[in-house]
Amino acid sequence: MSMNKPTQFDVLVLGGGIGGLQAALELAEQGFSVAVVERDASIGGKMIRLSKVFPTLDCASCITTPKMAAASHHPGITLFTLCELGKVERKEGLLSARLVQLPRHVDEDKCIGCRQCEYGCPVYVPDQEQAGLTARKAIYIPFSNAIPQLAVLDPDNCSLCGRCAKVCPTGAVDYAQPAREFTITGRALILATGFKLMTDYPERAYGPASRQPNLITSLEMERLLAPHGPYMRVLRPGDGKEPDSVAFIQCAGSRDINKGVSYCSRVCCMYAIKQAMLLSGSLPLADITIYYIDIRAFGKNYEQFFQNAKAMGIEFVKAKAMVVGQNAEGGVDLVYDDMESGEGAKRRSHDLVVMSLAMLPGCDSPPMAEVLAGPDGFIKSVSPKLAPGLTSQEGVFTCGAAAGPKDIVDTIVEAGHAAQEASIYLAFQGKGRAAA
Ligand SMILES: Cc1cc2nc3c(=O)[nH]c(=O)nc-3n(C[C@H](O)[C@H](O)[C@H](O)COP(=O)(O)OP(=O)(O)OC[C@H]3O[C@@H](n4cnc5c(N)ncnc54)[C@H](O)[C@@H]3O)c2cc1C
Ligand code: SF4
Ligand code: SF4
Repeated sequence: MSMNKPTQFDVLVLGGGIGGLQAALELAEQGFSVAVVERDASIGGKMIRLSKVFPTLDCASCITTPKMAAASHHPGITLFTLCELGKVERKEGLLSARLVQLPRHVDEDKCIGCRQCEYGCPVYVPDQEQAGLTARKAIYIPFSNAIPQLAVLDPDNCSLCGRCAKVCPTGAVDYAQPAREFTITGRALILATGFKLMTDYPERAYGPASRQPNLITSLEMERLLAPHGPYMRVLRPGDGKEPDSVAFIQCAGSRDINKGVSYCSRVCCMYAIKQAMLLSGSLPLADITIYYIDIRAFGKNYEQFFQNAKAMGIEFVKAKAMVVGQNAEGGVDLVYDDMESGEGAKRRSHDLVVMSLAMLPGCDSPPMAEVLAGPDGFIKSVSPKLAPGLTSQEGVFTCGAAAGPKDIVDTIVEAGHAAQEASIYLAFQGKGRAAA
């Protein structure tokens, strides 16, 4: 951490995704001092990693990057990256939060983001920001529009050859930088820890190193479709071939207590339709199929979006599909029971299959978890309809996918609610602004 950062704030926001950033910006605009605590090396959450957004098909990073920049430049907002929130205690009306910061091995005050270290590093490792489909160096800036634009060294893959320290013009590389623990205080806390995708789905065997490289997750498909994706076009990870048929398996782990979770992940239908539409633009000759149980087009213009996809020739098959193996050509074999024709079990192969995996709570152990988390692990709002940001704890609020699967529009609306509720709470606390 930079030595010059303040440690006392009006509001602590946990999670630097679109929800946390929106809440932080709204509070900072009202004059409150805000700390945004993010465990990744960059803020931006999932949205900065998406291709385009439904239903408008606007470029995701074109919307997210200005918000990230606004948060990082706002004088009322302090960013803490590579930090996890540990224990939170209440002391004399203040929430005192212990932060654990992983070492960046690069001095935040000295690094100017010039990437000389990255260019000079001889070690290549799979880049998880690109679903492991391309390589990055052992010292790197996470992605082109990462904020902060600071290098981070990956100690698990560094060979300690010393080249990065030699080429760095500012002497920022620090191999011995330790992990740090420190305390920040706030009068209110907003939990915006978002979601993660299920990883232990029984049929999940995707990824370049696995037996089924052409069975991928929906977030991996977002990277394949993104303008700055791994291949700059849609190719199969297994062999670099352009797929002639692509399928989506909906409710992979959602609404299925035997294989995953009982709830609906809410956004999968819409993002699968979005991805299918984008695919039919980039692969106009490919057959695109969505295997679904029900289509949940819940928001404004979403039903029209679904109808447009059908009109574009995307095939919708009402069936619960299951992966049964990989064929000799590298394609993925499925079995499914077509609910509409009633013709019983059928078998089909696709060159590339995308699993719309269930969304799980982003934070495994939220502070005060036992009081705040509902039975499914998402942060519990005490009044989801009237005041969605309110939790059972005084001065603790929530927004976005931390409180349950949600799209971006609803996340932003909830972030506004959480900011408003926190602001009213601070006003009633009647103690003015925290010292900078
Ligand atoms: C494949 C896919 C495609 C999608 N496409 C669309 C779309 O087109 N349109 C749309 O409206 N929605 C879409 N969504 C949904 C969208 O991603 C979410 O609505 C949005 O990301 C929620 O934002 P958030 O800030 O609540 O959570 P997140 O984006 O998950 O951000 C949470 C942040 O909190 C951080 N964090 C978590 N725990 C901790 C901790 N303990 N300490 C510190 N930091 C922590 C995380 O690192 C992360 O940066 C899509 C989702 C998926 C999976
Ligand atoms: S010391 Fe490590 S990070 Fe730096 S150049 Fe060598 S391998 Fe890369
Ligand atoms: S660590 Fe040094 S070389 Fe690397 S980006 Fe920062 S200033 Fe440039």
